[in-house]
Amino acid sequence: MNIYVLGLLFITLCLSQAKVIKEESDTCRELLSDELIKEIGSYENVRDEILNYVIEGEFKGKTYDELAKFVDKFGARPSGTEVLENSIDYMIELTRAEDINDIVTEELEVPQWTRGEERITMLEPRVKSISLLGLGRSVSTPPEGITAEVVVISDFLELENSPEEDIKGKIVIYDPVYTTYGETGVYRTQGASRAAAKGAVASLVRSITPFSINSPHTGAQTYNENVTKIPTAAITLEDVDLIRRITKRGERVVLKIEMTSSYDTKISRNTIIDLKGREKPESLVIVSGHIDSWDVGQGAMDDGGGIFVSWAAPVILKRLNLQPRRTVRTILWTAEELGLIGAYAYEEKHRDENHNINFIMESDEGTFAPLGLAVAGNQQARCIIAEILKLFKSINASTLIEDDSPGSDIAVITNTGIPGASLHNANERYFWFHHTEGDTMNVEDEHELDLGAAFWTTVAYIIADISIDIPR
Ligand SMILES: [Zn+2]
Repeated sequence: MNIYVLGLLFITLCLSQAKVIKEESDTCRELLSDELIKEIGSYENVRDEILNYVIEGEFKGKTYDELAKFVDKFGARPSGTEVLENSIDYMIELTRAEDINDIVTEELEVPQWTRGEERITMLEPRVKSISLLGLGRSVSTPPEGITAEVVVISDFLELENSPEEDIKGKIVIYDPVYTTYGETGVYRTQGASRAAAKGAVASLVRSITPFSINSPHTGAQTYNENVTKIPTAAITLEDVDLIRRITKRGERVVLKIEMTSSYDTKISRNTIIDLKGREKPESLVIVSGHIDSWDVGQGAMDDGGGIFVSWAAPVILKRLNLQPRRTVRTILWTAEELGLIGAYAYEEKHRDENHNINFIMESDEGTFAPLGLAVAGNQQARCIIAEILKLFKSINASTLIEDDSPGSDIAVITNTGIPGASLHNANERYFWFHHTEGDTMNVEDEHELDLGAAFWTTVAYIIADISIDIPR
């Protein structure tokens, strides 16, 4: 993108944002009573107390330190492993040490996909090793590997329009233009089965990221029923660009893919930590993140940061003797990475009491500097949250983004009509590290984690304490 296009885009964005804010404030003025606006404003003292305690006081640096201890001790925590279960036990002990004892775990069956040996060698037009990461649930290649010519495909339309003989027996490489994670991610999650349906013997995908230093990004994928399961992996932006350049010149590219993996199921646990409400303990304001991670990297960013800002909420409130009207519940979801398994199990188990969820929050898109919330809910619910967010102008976290399906795990619950939000943060670099060996503590920043923990805790407290429920 050149600078002129960027400039235009910036102006357009500013104009459209200004419009949204103006319309929103007009509508909200009609929907919120003066008393409610006054009541929300009266939380400025609590806000100051929490922000000071976390950003400058006794809790300063604590979220980062605890996250680092956790990440250094356990490293990657893939679904189905003993290390994940040990990390869950550790979080329970860490919480008990804060004298918070309303902790339960709920067992569920989770997938365990284990990566084995993985190697791709370009054989033609020259011998070169290609970095890869197999995608979740990928099957193995035969022991002798798969050796075939590649065909580079830009999008599913091109795949569908390709004559079958162009795809049959080949290795399909998806080379989509990165727009957003959600939009581009379909080439990773559905690419293998779509290619197999046209006779491909394996599929590779350009890593789902806008930026690369030659590192592959793994992620979940699912096979359709009734289609041959073909091996599938992500390769780097650099290698996809190389292969596309070569094939564009009319030269043949031949790859040899060797991959092994195994699949099993195990028992894991969702972890539920309650700071009971003083008046309506059955009514819940949930803060959450997922404790499992991919097998590469350390799961510091995805989603170590999310679980630690969510863990910090009841801990900070307990330490400050702030007991809200409703219960603040922290949930550490298990087995998110292989398909939101923990969230689906929780939703199913608690479906009969879901009227008790007043508001549900999730942090799983980075814990960089907080900017506000991405909120699902009706207009009145969004107006209440927007009014609460006005209290965070001093830390630049007052932005409300309308998002009908925020977060990943909590979307399972907000999609049933329950209002909720995910943490909106300065995460422009999030997908640079996402699902790679680069997801380490070096991505995390001590001060930004303090801001995030303080913001998350204060928002949860206010929603849990105000006189009215968040409407649905
Ligand atoms: Zn995540």
